[in-house]
Amino acid sequence: APTGRDRLRIAIQKNGRLSEPARALLGSCGLSWRESPDKLFCYGDNAPVDLLLVRDDDIPGLIDSGLCDLGIVGRNVLVEQSSERDESGTPANFRELRALGFGGCRLSLAVPNDWDWQGAAQLQGKRIATSYPALTRAWLREQGVAADVVVLNGSVEIAPRLGQADVVCDLVSSGATLVANQLKPVCDLLQSEAVLAGPVAELDPQLAETAQMLLRRIDGVLRIRDSKLLMFQAPRDAVADVLRLLPDAEPPTSYSVDGGELLAMQALCHGVVTWQRLEELKRAGARGLMVLPVERMLA
Ligand code: ATP
Ligand code: MG
Repeated sequence: APTGRDRLRIAIQKNGRLSEPARALLGSCGLSWRESPDKLFCYGDNAPVDLLLVRDDDIPGLIDSGLCDLGIVGRNVLVEQSSERDESGTPANFRELRALGFGGCRLSLAVPNDWDWQGAAQLQGKRIATSYPALTRAWLREQGVAADVVVLNGSVEIAPRLGQADVVCDLVSSGATLVANQLKPVCDLLQSEAVLAGPVAELDPQLAETAQMLLRRIDGVLRIRDSKLLMFQAPRDAVADVLRLLPDAEPPTSYSVDGGELLAMQALCHGVVTWQRLEELKRAGARGLMVLPVERMLA
């Protein structure tokens, strides 16, 4: 449906784990904002892209209703809300467009330490405390297990000790909270991280163009995270040996230095280029090795 807007609107978390990294990502895409004092709405300075700062739970709904065009939110929130839609039979107009590589965590089932975990069948007739009821119910259906889902919006881990539930299904990153509550994770329902979410339906052409521009920049930023440009020279007959040591590199470009046997090469490496790798490359015949940071990339 036409929005009547000509500026792209992105919803991000106002206050929380994803706020800073989301802003940083958009910042490294070259966007900047003139913040309004209440900081609910930030007007884009140098591109027709505005920010809406909200509770993360509101982000899928804002995209669904077309009030926002894109959002940065945990996959856990997105999948929970689409599972809710599945349950009610109303298809969601939001979906994951890109995984963003931060905010990593898992939605895990955790049981009391003294349980001898045998598998999902053990949950039959038990009570599971969670803030992710739709996702948990979908998983239980998949497992063919009937259990009661107890919805709690905070302090889920304490539920077994309080006698509110037998087990929990909650987000885990370090696992310290579980340990403190004498629980152990036994099964992951979802691997989560922050994602860029957008509508299933097409955006208005003008907004779509801005969104495509932003996606290209995000792809560039994601590609160069942890990537380095490796420059070196190698005699033509050593190149095959050298390239075998660079399995994580994109196909290198090379040119001959003196029209002869020595090639100057550059390869974009994903992953860490350690001293040890440089020494191996040197043993394989590479010379003049240099590792450079990559500032920007546009495919
Ligand atoms: P809001 O006020 O916006 O509703 P919130 O309390 O729901 O905030 P945060 O605790 O800031 O949300 O977490 C935001 C997201 O960070 C989570 O939905 C999840 O995707 C991710 N995350 C990463 N690690 C963890 C963790 N250990 N616990 C909870 N969330 C985590
Ligand atoms: Mg929330």
